[in-house]
Amino acid sequence: MKSFNQTKIVATLGPASGTVEIIRQLIQAGADGFRLNFSHGDGPALAPLIEAVRQAEKTAKAHIPILADIQGPKLRIGQMPKDGVTLLEGERITLTERPVEGSVHEVHSPYEFLTRDVKAGSRILLADGSIELMAERIEGPDVICRIMTGGRLYSNKGLNLPGTRLSVETLTAKDERDLAYVGRNGLDMVAISFVRSAADIHRAREFLGNSKIPVMAKLERPEALDHLDEILEASDGVMVARGDLGVELDFERVPILQKRILSRAAVRGKWAIVATQMLGSMVLNHRPSRAEVSDVANAVLDGADAVMLSEETAAGNHPVESVEAMARISREAETVTHTASVSFEADIMSFAAGAAGAAVSAAERLNARAIVALAGSGLTALLVSKWKPRLPILAMSAHVPTLRRMNVLRGVIPVAIGERAGMERQLEAADRFLVQDGWAAPGDTVVVVAAIPLGEGKETNTIRFHKVRGGK
Ligand code: PEP
Repeated sequence: MKSFNQTKIVATLGPASGTVEIIRQLIQAGADGFRLNFSHGDGPALAPLIEAVRQAEKTAKAHIPILADIQGPKLRIGQMPKDGVTLLEGERITLTERPVEGSVHEVHSPYEFLTRDVKAGSRILLADGSIELMAERIEGPDVICRIMTGGRLYSNKGLNLPGTRLSVETLTAKDERDLAYVGRNGLDMVAISFVRSAADIHRAREFLGNSKIPVMAKLERPEALDHLDEILEASDGVMVARGDLGVELDFERVPILQKRILSRAAVRGKWAIVATQMLGSMVLNHRPSRAEVSDVANAVLDGADAVMLSEETAAGNHPVESVEAMARISREAETVTHTASVSFEADIMSFAAGAAGAAVSAAERLNARAIVALAGSGLTALLVSKWKPRLPILAMSAHVPTLRRMNVLRGVIPVAIGERAGMERQLEAADRFLVQDGWAAPGDTVVVVAAIPLGEGKETNTIRFHKVRGGK
């Protein structure tokens, strides 16, 4: 069978990748969707990138989703001298709500609940966890700390309070505005940062208005892991946001959590993306480190729908080579994957879930060339994809946003059809696509899943075996 990348690649856009030409090259190299990081701007500031993706998508004749990553309450320190300062282990330093310029004696934190949330004995991490402080006492707007691990500190670096219950809401005023923008402008998917409970996802949906944009929960806070099942139920998918997760929790827990999160996402029929530092050294280098190669391969073996690049494509020196490397690693890892046998959770045991498993088993027994999900809600294609069969899953749809979203589901290839195309027209389109793109020859078998009558919003109820025809 023709080889293809089952695991999808999401590339973050930024200064290194903001032109139509580079985005086109990223798609050519294997990018299936793009992330816009709302930590670096709001909707109007990011609008040129949105426009550039839409243009590149047209040129590439592909269906490319844009994932809007909403910043959330990321805590940061304030201004430091331009060249930073070095904090020395064993010294004292004051973290303060007062807007001072930072020095070796005091550092500003604009977090309004700093002295309410931090207690004597709290751990405070700066700059992605590279500097560690321990709070000794609180005095008015100041937290007096001991430096446990020193390092160089620059302006606006991240501040994490692992183990501390934060008073701040998960959605900031900026996030609410950004969500409204995403809803109005029809971006394809949204990711919410620092989710702690299902309520955060429900609240995010309110700001998206009437749009049915899928909402993903970024899992990076310990509370989220305590509420994983309820968050999975409330959201359309999850992102293993390993950057902050590995600071908020002991880093050695991250690989095991990744496996747990991906297997829970599979049985609940949800999207799952693995993110951050996947090919970090390629920000500077042409080739990935061997540890990074293993990391990407393991995410593929763990069952990720998509693997994500952040700084590598947003601000790195080799954005296109990073995508090429990720595609090569994924393709190789996929050669040893097996079809999963997914026991979906009882509460999603639907006709669609039954059809998904039955279609995959039948396809394997019949040596079919593809599974074709006729147009519907997209749920069947999603559930088939969770079985990770080693053959393409064609998702037929006339709806551009649906086609785009399907493009970041593992093993799924979206195929456009005309509005109101019936069974015969959809099968013709599938046959044409399969033959012209070299997936199948006339006479080969495919397994078709559908909700009959088509287009009436019915639940999936039919599995049909079909011999590929013609292919003009
Ligand atoms: C992460 O922390 O891993 C992450 C994906 O979030 P961000 O890139 O917004 O820090």
